[in-house]
Amino acid sequence: MDSVDLLIVGAGALGLACAARLASPARSCLIVEAERLIGSHTSSRNSEVIHAGLYYPPGSLKAELCLEGRERLYAWCRERQVPFARLGKLLVAVEDAERDALERLAGNAQRCGVRDLQALDGTRLRALEPAVRGVAALLSPSTGILDSHAYLQSLLAAAERRGAQLALDSRVERLRHDGRDWIVEGRSGGEAFALRAHCVINAAGPFAQQLAAAIEGLANALVPRLHLCQGRYYSYAGRSPFAHLIYPMPEAHTAGLGIHATLDLGGQLRFGPDVRYLEQIDYQVDGRLAEHFAQAVRRYFPALDATRLAPGYSGIRPKLSGPGEPAADFLIQTSAAHGLPGLVNLFGIESPGLTASLAIAERVAAAL
Ligand SMILES: Cc1cc2nc3c(=O)[nH]c(=O)nc-3n(C[C@H](O)[C@H](O)[C@H](O)COP(=O)(O)OP(=O)(O)OC[C@H]3O[C@@H](n4cnc5c(N)ncnc54)[C@H](O)[C@@H]3O)c2cc1C
Repeated sequence: MDSVDLLIVGAGALGLACAARLASPARSCLIVEAERLIGSHTSSRNSEVIHAGLYYPPGSLKAELCLEGRERLYAWCRERQVPFARLGKLLVAVEDAERDALERLAGNAQRCGVRDLQALDGTRLRALEPAVRGVAALLSPSTGILDSHAYLQSLLAAAERRGAQLALDSRVERLRHDGRDWIVEGRSGGEAFALRAHCVINAAGPFAQQLAAAIEGLANALVPRLHLCQGRYYSYAGRSPFAHLIYPMPEAHTAGLGIHATLDLGGQLRFGPDVRYLEQIDYQVDGRLAEHFAQAVRRYFPALDATRLAPGYSGIRPKLSGPGEPAADFLIQTSAAHGLPGLVNLFGIESPGLTASLAIAERVAAAL
């Protein structure tokens, strides 16, 4: 039976970041990916925003790893020629009634260690973004965007330079520990395979719970319930009226960030994501949502031309909290929690997972 030191299940941002961090000539590493392309799920279906870390509870993994990951990610992009732009983000209070919420967010960001936020009044907001309606705003200069596909390719290239191998179209179906190694079984290109791995990282994103259920000896009670939460985008044709990313106040009733405006590096403007809990993965975007999106966006962009909206794409947040529940943190589950040797499960890596990916990889490396 073939054997590797480290098996990583999933070639999204997290699996690839772990491979780039942990592969070395002294540690053989195999990345196993069920799809035919890397990043086929969450990592290619997001806003591509490098988050500054404003919203998360101080002291949470999301808060800490977002800040650390953001700095690591900017440095990575600079060093590896991954396209990125530090565009800055405006968090807008549209009405006086939202000023308190804006102040609370500024306080939360400060407690999380974000020190560069600038408070703007309505006049300064209009000077920066004439098309945006608002009475006050926070400018976050350290929020940016990146080319997520180029980022994934750069992670893979770094991992491969350090000797990692990637097996596409290969699904891990079962894992058990024989006292020395993990015995890993699955199917590759339709053929059954089995191999030995000393350590295993479950970086299967929205399938992490499914994989965890196939790990012999992992107590069911330790597998957190998965809540699939779709986020849909509508694109906006033509030139963007904004130079920054524009965010309304977060929505208390959905625990979402509100339907915001983000740009990609080509200057394409998109609105979203919204919040929709699902029973199973479904990436379709209903073509009848233009008015729903237009209503949300017109609050802060009154000149919106709804005829320029078109259904875009969607992604699925692998949440650990359900509708109405307080937002759950990332869960990096190590031997200390489950007692099984050399196994790390990554659960609930929703936003800001892309931003935090390099920092999460550091935590995983420390745990292994
Ligand atoms: C709508 C939306 C917007 C977001 N916006 C942002 C943002 O702007 N900024 C930010 O920082 N974060 C954002 N995120 C979060 C970010 O996209 C994710 O945290 C990150 O991409 C998660 O990566 P991953 O590697 O854990 O999962 P994935 O990218 O889903 O990768 C998991 C991989 O595992 C593979 N796999 C699953 N099971 C198996 C198996 N049994 N065998 C082999 N392979 C398997 C899958 O095929 C998949 O390729 C957003 C997420 C969503 C949904």
